[in-house]
Parts: sequence; C-alpha cells; structure tokens
Amino acid sequence: MRDPVYYSGSAEFFDTHAHIYDRKYADCNTNVEDILLRCKSSGVTSVLIPADNEETSGLAVDLAMKYDGFAGITLYSSVGIHPHEAKTYTEETEDFLRSSLEDRKEKRIMALGEIGLDYYYDLSERSVQREVFAKQLEIAKEYDVPVILHERDATGDCLDILRRFYREGRLRSLPGVCHCCSCSLEASQELVKMGFYIGFDGPLTFKNNKKTPEVARNTPWDRIVIETDSPYLTPEPNRGLINEPCHVPYVCARLAEIKGVTIDEAAQITYDNGKMLYGVN
Ligand SMILES: [Zn+2]
Repeated sequence: MRDPVYYSGSAEFFDTHAHIYDRKYADCNTNVEDILLRCKSSGVTSVLIPADNEETSGLAVDLAMKYDGFAGITLYSSVGIHPHEAKTYTEETEDFLRSSLEDRKEKRIMALGEIGLDYYYDLSERSVQREVFAKQLEIAKEYDVPVILHERDATGDCLDILRRFYREGRLRSLPGVCHCCSCSLEASQELVKMGFYIGFDGPLTFKNNKKTPEVARNTPWDRIVIETDSPYLTPEPNRGLINEPCHVPYVCARLAEIKGVTIDEAAQITYDNGKMLYGVN
C-alpha cells in the first residue's frame, strides 16, 4: 500500500520531473487532484511537469496553469521534443516551441525539454536525433531558458554536442539538468563542469544499482536536484505501484543517506537548487 504520510517533518520537497498528465493515471483511476493532494500530505510543494512532444507540451502547460496553487502546490511546466519524437520535428514544431517560449513566464514554462539523445530505443534515426537536439539547444540559448536533458546510451555524442555549444559560449551559465542521470561518474563530472545540474530519481533507491549512488556521492551539493519521472521508475519501497510526485521523499531519503545528512537538510538543499535551476523562488 502507498504510504502518503511517509514524511511528517516540516521540510518542503521539489519534484523537478513528473509527467502527471500521463495516460497511465487515467487507467489507474487517478486524477490530478488526487496526485496533488497526496503531494500535500508528503511535503511535496513544487512540481515541474516536463513534456516530450507537441501534444504533451500542451498538456503540461495547461495543467500547470490550471492547477497551480491547488492544495498549495506550485506547478511549473516545460515544452520540448524528446529524442524518441525527433523524427516528428518540422518547421511547424519549431514555430510552436518559439511561440510557447515567447511569453513563457505567464504560461509557467520554466524549461525546454526533454531534449537529447536516446540510442537505447533508437526510435528516431540517430542523425535526426542529433540535429533536433542541437536545434533545440539553439532555441534554449535564444530564449535564455534551461534545458532538461534526456540521454540514454548516447553519452559520447551527447557530450560532443554539448562541448561544442559550451566552447562557443552558446550554453547558459545554468544550462539545465541531466535528468534521471544514468551516465558514468566521469561524464557526470564533465556535465557539472559545464554548469549542469544532475537529477536523481527512483533508480538511486534500487538495491542492485551501484553506479548512481556513486555519482550522487561525488556530485557537489549545489548541483543536485531530485525527481520522480512519474509515472515510471517508482522508488523503493513502493516499486510495483504507479509513481507519483509524493514518492520524491524516498529519493531524498536515499540521497541524504548517501551524503550523510538528514532528510530535512537534503530536502532544503535540493528544493533551493530546483528553484535556482528554473529561475524561480
Ligand atoms: Zn521524463
């Protein structure tokens, strides 16, 4: 059973990555209001809703605008084209992204993403993925907005593209976050050097995962954010249940254990980092 009051202290948590519009919730008879009420009872007071294509960009923005403040939860959104969907990217897509970012603050859009490369599923041709990733990095620079990186089995090419932008001064000083970090310690450290935050979620709590805790241990505190990637990647001990932002305290607790601090301290730091990353307070 889900325990909605796992955390009973006074710290606040920021789930920086939760797809709360996902169809899976309707399949489980869960609506947005239920999700936000469970956030409230778990101390989760801010949630960013990321997008992966044009349709979910619209859903993320609509939800953030409609439900911001419900149950005292602050909501933000992003717009962007995930590498899986890179093959659908057209001039119209680009116009859509630009017009969304035009008045982004009123629409609560705080990032461009998810963007990046995914050579694990290869759902779009790799050359197309690289091209669409670079195009969106350019848009991010133009609109001065952080990016949400999705990278899977493509670390080499992803770093190559980012290095080029970094060298040419075309990344912001706070360029964005490597969401659901699965790369090596070495790669994560290079990302941190370029100014990226590293996002940790459910896999940090998985017992057979040795790599991610090692990355967390070695990532400086001021570069860490926590996330759930809901509805996927439910953290221990709730694996098997659909994931929701109310589970982010479990990720925070594991992070606190790895770093040797209290959960309240880890919550405060990651909360402040999330606000800094997305330029909100
Ligand atoms: Zn995601």
